[in-house]
Amino acid sequence: MAVDVEKNKKQDNTLDATLNSIRQAVEMGDLSYEVYEYLKTPMRFVEVGVPVEMQDGRMEVFTGYRCQHNNVFGPYKGGIRFHPAVTIDSIKALSMWMTLKCSLVGVPFGGAKGAIVVDSTKMTIKERERMTRSYVRALGSVLGPETDIPAPDVFTDAQVMAWIADEYSDIMREPSFGVVTGKPLAVGGCVGRNEATGRGCFFIGREAAKALDIPLEDARVAVQGFGNVGSNAAILFAEVGCPVIAVSDVSGGLYNKNGIDIFKLLDHVEKTGFVKGFEDAEEITNEELLTIDCDILIPAALENQINSGNADQVKAKIVIEGANGPTTPEADQVLKDKGILVVPDILANSGGVTVSYFEWVQNNYGFRWDLETVNRRLEEKMTEAFKMVYKYYCEKCVGSDMRTGAYMYSTQRLAEAMHYRGWLSNGTHRK
Ligand code: NAD
Repeated sequence: MAVDVEKNKKQDNTLDATLNSIRQAVEMGDLSYEVYEYLKTPMRFVEVGVPVEMQDGRMEVFTGYRCQHNNVFGPYKGGIRFHPAVTIDSIKALSMWMTLKCSLVGVPFGGAKGAIVVDSTKMTIKERERMTRSYVRALGSVLGPETDIPAPDVFTDAQVMAWIADEYSDIMREPSFGVVTGKPLAVGGCVGRNEATGRGCFFIGREAAKALDIPLEDARVAVQGFGNVGSNAAILFAEVGCPVIAVSDVSGGLYNKNGIDIFKLLDHVEKTGFVKGFEDAEEITNEELLTIDCDILIPAALENQINSGNADQVKAKIVIEGANGPTTPEADQVLKDKGILVVPDILANSGGVTVSYFEWVQNNYGFRWDLETVNRRLEEKMTEAFKMVYKYYCEKCVGSDMRTGAYMYSTQRLAEAMHYRGWLSNGTHRK
C-alpha cells in the first residue's frame, strides 16, 4: 500500500504547533520564559548516513536521525520510526512530546525520537536487519542505557529492538540490553510492553467515559490504525463489551454498526497483512472512519489525521489520541467548539513509555515482574495521570481544552526540575 509521502510532508506543521502549545502553556502557567527557551530547541540533534547492502548487492545510503530533546528528568527516551515521510521537524516535535509525556506521567526520563527515512515495508528482513545495525553503528555512543534509550514506533517492533540491543552490546563488548526497551522477552523484554500503549489508551478511554457519564459497555468505538496501538486498544474495548464499529489501516476502513468481531479480524490481518477484504463488515474509506457516528474515536495511525478538512464532521464524544499528533491545532479548536473531549496524545498514549520504564528498571535490577504486576502498575499510573490532568483542566483551564491543561501540568513539573537542577536564573515562575 503506497504511502503518500509528498502529501504527508506538506501537512507537516507539527513542530510549529508544538512550539505554540508549549509557549502557551508556559505563558498561561505564568512560568519563567527561560523554561520555554530550554524547551524550544533540542539539546542535541544528530543526522547520520545509514549505508545498507541491499539484496541485489547495491549499497544504498539512507538518512537517519536521533533527536535528544531534553534530559532534565533523566536519560533521553523515545521511539525509532522507519517511515518515508519523516522530516527533521516531525522528529523534533515527536521528541518534544516525549519530554512532555514523561513529565506528565512522572517517569524519570527525558524526551527523544529517532527515525530512518525509508519505506521499510518494501525491504527484505535481512535488509531491515542490516539497516538497523548500520543505524546503531552510525549513532555509536549517542545511545546508552544511562544516556538515551530507544523503543519501538511506527514500522519498528520487538525484533528491531533486539537487533539494536545486540549491535550496541557488540560495540560495548558486553551485554547491554537496557539500551533499548520493547525487546522480546527472551532478551530482557517486559511482559505486557507490546500491548502497553493500546492498554493505556483503553484505561484512559474508560476514565474519560466515566468523567462524561458515558456507560463504557455501550460506548461505540472507532479506531484508525490497526497496528500495535490501535489493535491492542480495540481488543480491550471489545473485551469489555464495547461495540468496535469501525477500524482502518493503510489499506482502508471497515464498518459494522453491530460491532466488528475483532478477534476474527486479527486472524484475517495475520493472514493477509491488512484489514481490507474482511468479510463481516462493509468497506469504508479512512476519511469516513474519522467522521463516523461513534462515542469514542481513537486515531492510532499518524499525525494530522483530524484536520481543518474533516474536524467539523467528527461525531465522536471523546477522542483518545493513540497516535502522536493526530489532531491539528485548527481541528483542536473546532472539536473544542463542538464540545468534544480530546484526551491529548501526551497523556493518552503514555502507556508505552510507562511500561518501557518498568522494563528498564527490571533490566537494571536484573529481575522480572509478572504480567499481573505490570498491568496493575500500568493501570494505577494511567488512572492517576488521567484524574490529575482532568482535575487540573477542569479547575485551571476554564474555556480551554484538555491539551492545554496537560501541557500546563507537564511544563510546570519540568520547570520545577529545571529550577532544582539550577538551570533557571530566577525561580520557576515569572516575577
Ligand atoms: P504500527 O506501525 O504498529 O501501526 C500503524 C498503523 O497505522 C498500521 O495499521 C498502518 O496500516 C496504519 N496506517 C498507516 N497510515 C495510515 C493511514 N494513512 N490511514 C490509516 N491507517 C494508517 O504503529 P504503532 O506503533 O501502532 O504507532 C501508531 C501511532 O502511535 C504513531 O503515531 C506512534 O508514534 C504512536 N505511538 C506508538 C507507541 C507504541 O508503543 N507503539 C507509543 C506511543 C505512541
